[in-house]
Parts: sequence; C-alpha cells; structure tokens
Amino acid sequence: MKVVRTIADLETVPGTGLVPTMGALHDGHLALLETARRENETVVMSLFVNPAQFDDPADLEAYPHDEARDLRLAENAGVDVVFAPARDELYPSGFATWVDPDETGEEGDSRPGHFRGVATVCLKLFNLVRPDRAYFGQKDAQQVAVIRRLVRDLNVPVQIRVVPTVRDPDGLALSSRNGRLTAEERERALALPRALSSAAGAPDPVAAARSSLNGLEPEYVEMLDLGEAKVLAAAVRIGSTRLIDNVLVEGELR
Ligand code: AMP
Repeated sequence: MKVVRTIADLETVPGTGLVPTMGALHDGHLALLETARRENETVVMSLFVNPAQFDDPADLEAYPHDEARDLRLAENAGVDVVFAPARDELYPSGFATWVDPDETGEEGDSRPGHFRGVATVCLKLFNLVRPDRAYFGQKDAQQVAVIRRLVRDLNVPVQIRVVPTVRDPDGLALSSRNGRLTAEERERALALPRALSSAAGAPDPVAAARSSLNGLEPEYVEMLDLGEAKVLAAAVRIGSTRLIDNVLVEGELR
C-alpha cells in the first residue's frame, strides 16, 4: 500500500474506486472499502479531516485521529493507495473557490456551511483521483443527496455508490463520534435507531418517529428523497454529542 501526501505524487489510473474518509476508521468505513475492493481494480482511500466542513471549531478540535491505526486498517482492507494530504495541500493560501449546494435539507439548516465544505472537498478529490466510482455511506444520507446532485449538476464523470449503514449489534449506527458518549448517554442514544426503525412502516413515519424518541429532543425528523429511495432521517443531541441516523422507507440505495 502506498501512502501519498502530495498532489504531485498522486497518479490517476483507470478502474479506480475512491473512498473518501476523515480517518478514525470503524467497520462502517471498512464496509465502504470492501465494496470498493470488490468492484474496482484499484482502491484509493483519502484520509483528510476537512476543516471546511466543520461548522463547529470545537468539533474539529475534538475529532479523533490515529493515523498509524487507520493505515493498518486500510492495508488490511486491501487499499492500494492512501491519499493523506496536509491541510494546505488542499487549501493553499489564497484558496477562494467553493461549491455551494442550494438544497441541503434539514441537516444543512442545522449545520450552516457544512455541505459547502463537503461538496468542495469531494469535487477536489474527484478531480485529483479521477475515480470511476466513489463510495459513500447511507449513514450520511443528506451527504449522498448533495454529492449525487453535485455530480449531475457539474457533469462529473464518476458513479456514486451507496453502502448500507453498519450498526453495532444493539442497533446504534457506527460513528467516529460514538466514542464521546458516556455509557449512560450511549444507552439513551439507542432510542434514535429504535424510533426510526419502528416508524419506517407507519402511515406518517415522521410523526411516528417523533413520538417514540423516548424523551430525546430531535433537532429534526424528516423524509429525505434520494431519487431511487426515500429515507426517514433524524438528528439528536445527547450531551455535547450530535448523532444522525436514517432508515430506508421506500426503494433501494445502490
Ligand atoms: P467520515 O470519515 O465520517 O467522513 O465518513 C466517511 C464515509 O464513511 C462517509 O461516506 C460516511 O457516510 C461513511 N460512514 C460513516 N459511518 C458509517 C456507517 N456506520 N456505516 C456505513 N458508512 C458509514
């Protein structure tokens, strides 16, 4: 496995699958890497904590990182190239051009500027790596919607693939932020996946999820239209940790 730190050292090859990550890898990331490994000759994983997508400086500060561990996991997952640039390699001084999506749903309303950062870094990665396919988790459903729209609107020649959310056995969606929950908070957090999965088949899924959140105050509950599929999505704050999750209500994600 090659670790590439500069744009100049990055080679583009046909038949590449790209998996963008911010590191702190868990089994959700590994599911993306496995799917990419099956479907492509070359797998490139980017490892970059994108400052532009953090609306909260404290969240960026607290973001976990252990590069040695991430590189080990990537190598075991069969990654060919890890692209791990320094911040100013992607945002040199004088950087002044942004991709600013108009439609970013409730998640975008809750996190001003977040999807501008996500869309900008993803377009940069698509331009740098030139992958045939790029892999994203269903966990971040609004992100999938934004990236699909970006690719369509700006005619980016990449196929966007969506991988189902990986969960702990008790149902909590894996997230790099779960490690910040105390045992008691983690127990309370289970109400989120439980409410969403029990509400998915109800006549009014949004109302059903709201009424079964077991005292958790949602930032929002919404139906999200991803084109070929609809998901029921919600965000909650537990202590100082913000969690999002969603379940499939209609259709299929590919
Ligand atoms: P992140 O490193 O948090 O930016 O996530 C990198 C990619 O992993 C994104 O496409 C996420 O949607 C995806 N991801 C994060 N958590 C999960 C999960 N529990 N299951 C599947 N994919 C996930």
